[in-house]
Amino acid sequence: MKVHFWGVRGSISTPITPQQIQAKIIAIIQRITEKDIVTPEARERFISNLPDWQFGTVGGNTPCVSLRSSEGTEVVLDAGTGIRCYGKSIDTPKNKEYNLFFSHFHWDHIQGLPFFDKAYDPESTINIYSAFENAKEYLENQMQFTYFPVPFDSFTKKITFHKLEEGLEYKIGNLLVSICKMAHPGSSYSFAFKENGKKVVYATDVELKQEDYNDSESHNLVFKDADYLIIDSQYTVDEANLKVNSPLRPSSFRSLKDLATHSGLAVEPEKTSEAVLSTSKNPPPLLVPVSSFSHLISLATLNSVCSGRRTTDSFTAVLSLSKLMPPKLILLQFVLFL
Ligand SMILES: [Zn+2]
Repeated sequence: MKVHFWGVRGSISTPITPQQIQAKIIAIIQRITEKDIVTPEARERFISNLPDWQFGTVGGNTPCVSLRSSEGTEVVLDAGTGIRCYGKSIDTPKNKEYNLFFSHFHWDHIQGLPFFDKAYDPESTINIYSAFENAKEYLENQMQFTYFPVPFDSFTKKITFHKLEEGLEYKIGNLLVSICKMAHPGSSYSFAFKENGKKVVYATDVELKQEDYNDSESHNLVFKDADYLIIDSQYTVDEANLKVNSPLRPSSFRSLKDLATHSGLAVEPEKTSEAVLSTSKNPPPLLVPVSSFSHLISLATLNSVCSGRRTTDSFTAVLSLSKLMPPKLILLQFVLFL
């Protein structure tokens, strides 16, 4: 299985700002020593050895994660603006078949679909999976003429909608897939994908509640003994508690860690601290050996914009978790091999 993050920003896509670029430049200048600039080669070496968090950028696109099985089954999780880069960057699969899974239909999870170029190829076959009865209607509506000049009908005619049920296990290619309903306005569904004894869970826009620690059948089917948990968090416990009456109540990093531990993941703080960031080069993405990864991966930083508190990019928002655990994760555009 290969997992690739194309978009991890919640709520709204967020290009890097001039202030953030300035901050990066300042941080880079502070690293320079005399030997770093003594020759052109030294300067090149200095630049190429900069850490990704200084040289690159993260957090710009809204959620889209792709997963390719060892036999080439192509899965796309959510269609935020990251799906545009996905469509333009990947090698087209031989059978031109794409399996799109929607956790839910909030705008940041569907807004990239009209820009997914593979969907317009008449030879493409697209399977759309979700737990929502009206999934087709939701996707068609965002492409009504008022909002977008190209209608949903312009996509390949080979689109099939599949409704998924909790508690069942589906076979898609050589992947076993299960889903679990999570707390979120309008609900969001987590997905588990299993192949060759490895299990990856994608759980976005999750607002953890006590029920998530009660071992229900559907919850266990998805979360139990996962090898990798892709989940979003941003706040400390104190900050999350202040959000308790907000329509969006993000989970604290600590509660996610509790969930991971409860589900049988071996969360290793020292690995969680590894920052594995993309460069802004596109393509190629940064390739990351699995051994360097945490089992717990912070995905989106939903609410960093909604809260009005943090308008910086995802990475900065995740860095705020350092009160609990030394810095921090991951984000956009990396590839994970299982
Ligand atoms: Zn949402």
